Amino acid sequence: MKMNTLAVHAGQTEGQASGSVARDLVLSTTFERLPDGGYPAGFQYSRTGNPNRAALEAAIAALEGGSRAFAFGSGLAAVAALFHLLKPGDHIILPDDVYHGTYYLLSKLFTEWGLTYDRINLNDPANLDAAIRDTTRMVWVETPSNPMLNITDVAAVAQRTRAADVLCVVDNTWPSPVLQRPLDLSADIVMHSTTKYFGGHSDVLGGAVILSDAASELLGDKLDAIQGLGGAVPSPFDCWLLLRSIPTMPLRVKRQSSNAQHLAEFLDQHPLVETVFYPGLVSHLGHKVAAKQMPNGFGGMLSFTVKGGEQAAWKLANSTALFRQATSLGGVESLIEHRYSVEGPDSTTPKHLLRVSVGIEDVSDLIDDIKQALAAM
Ligand SMILES: *Cc1c(COP(=O)(O)O)cnc(C)c1O
Repeated sequence: MKMNTLAVHAGQTEGQASGSVARDLVLSTTFERLPDGGYPAGFQYSRTGNPNRAALEAAIAALEGGSRAFAFGSGLAAVAALFHLLKPGDHIILPDDVYHGTYYLLSKLFTEWGLTYDRINLNDPANLDAAIRDTTRMVWVETPSNPMLNITDVAAVAQRTRAADVLCVVDNTWPSPVLQRPLDLSADIVMHSTTKYFGGHSDVLGGAVILSDAASELLGDKLDAIQGLGGAVPSPFDCWLLLRSIPTMPLRVKRQSSNAQHLAEFLDQHPLVETVFYPGLVSHLGHKVAAKQMPNGFGGMLSFTVKGGEQAAWKLANSTALFRQATSLGGVESLIEHRYSVEGPDSTTPKHLLRVSVGIEDVSDLIDDIKQALAAM
């Protein structure tokens, strides 16, 4: 099945006895046993598994072309689950502009448990040759990156990690499987903040880890224990909401991506805009690699710097009518944010940069709104 069909059907009503065309919400925390002690549907207690989570995991695994998926209560809980796979002394390589929450989780918490790391520029995967050590267990990729929209060649990274017997993990939150499927590019593990494009309506937190066949063989049981014993699991209703959103994800993401392309082209021509960061622009450093690994669109996220410095950027963000000033991304509504002030004191993001999550509105209304806000600036 193709992506549009998978999104509508995968996992949706699998294993459902009621005959409902929509998914039933099962809130029960516990499941009745058979006389022989068995469990008729394989569910025992809701932390270790429940019908709504199983359905969501089946859908996510199918969309990413993975062998198994694990759902978590947030994107960062999924990141933490992956770090829990490692042992004291293990080394992780991260991109120098990795999502700030991933970096803080590692640098503030997991270093106390003995994990070590280096941040390197992954625009050029050849930089890995000098960075991979004997103790390196994981290379973390995020492409397009947040908030600079840098592009990493996933296949070129995976070729190197495979040769070195290191895991290649891709945070695929921004493109979503609609635009990029890292396991097809030979990555071992995909991670998502399902809060973003999977949810798509800014009303549910979630995370997911998806394993390739080989990674599932190697790590499936351990991740199952981390999920079930660690207990950072989503509620049945969170799973229900996410599964409810998945059928429309391809429609939403393609519209968001096409809107973002038009908005990026408009901003790129505007005299008050300094630089636009969007891989769909031919002038973008990563355009060629992005076109290869994201053949159906360059995503709904873009950033840009304005002339006039930080004050001008704030003025613009305060002058939009349709774009709401808020963090996060992937919802149907367009958002704009001053990124540096969200990331905190370690941030390397320029202070005159604005990050935009483009929604599904009519693109001419979005361009008119930005146009009048630039005039107010
Ligand atoms: C939001 C986000 C996360 C963290 O996910 P939460 O659901 O907020 O915990 C991780 N990576 C990327 C790229 C994100 O955008």
